[in-house]
Amino acid sequence: MGYNVAIDGPAGAGKSTIAKLVAEKKGYIYVDTGAMYRGLAIHFLDRGIKAEETDKVIEACKDAEVQICYENGTQQVYLNGVNITGRLRDEAVGRMTSQCSVIPRVREKLLDLQREIARTQDVIMDGRDIGTCVLPNADVKIYLTASVETRARRRFDELTAKGESCDFDEIARDIKERDARDMNRETAPLKKAEDAVLVDSSDMTIEEVVQRISQLCR
Ligand code: C5P
Repeated sequence: MGYNVAIDGPAGAGKSTIAKLVAEKKGYIYVDTGAMYRGLAIHFLDRGIKAEETDKVIEACKDAEVQICYENGTQQVYLNGVNITGRLRDEAVGRMTSQCSVIPRVREKLLDLQREIARTQDVIMDGRDIGTCVLPNADVKIYLTASVETRARRRFDELTAKGESCDFDEIARDIKERDARDMNRETAPLKKAEDAVLVDSSDMTIEEVVQRISQLCR
């Protein structure tokens, strides 16, 4: 059995940045489950399926195979044998992912894959339902959050640094919408597991958050 650290929280809370650093420090494998959902969303988008076409999404799940592997320590996502890692962070993919991940069949599709990875390896796995559904017996559970304002500012800075033009208010609106969808869906909604440690990173540096979480882990 691997040593399992679950880290859940809303979009933009810094889960992936923090989880990667903790993984490096502790020698765990970092598993980004959002990337798996994003991989499926790309499959639907490439078939011209719209998020509201639930029947088509369910049907398309049949011939989507998402795989992850690690190249130079970085997670790579393959969709039906093609490396799609470079497309995962597109805004359109993010929107589609958030909409499609409410569909139980989509979640079911990825559940076994996530559990299997954690079964045999020491992992820090980030997502929305890791501590509550995927790994209810995780050794450590963290709920990492930050204010909407902070999360929108981080996303704005990240896009601006990449030279992409963006609008702060639009980003904040999108974050609120995504939170509402993730927290209010029927299947595996985003919520803090009862035994998760709450970490609010709004006024913390990356180093402080890494330090706080590392202290909780073996
Ligand atoms: O973490 P990331 O922003 O890449 O996740 C994209 C979307 O995938 C989230 O907004 C959420 O709807 C969905 N997701 C999920 N369960 C997870 C990971 C991600 O529903 N474990």
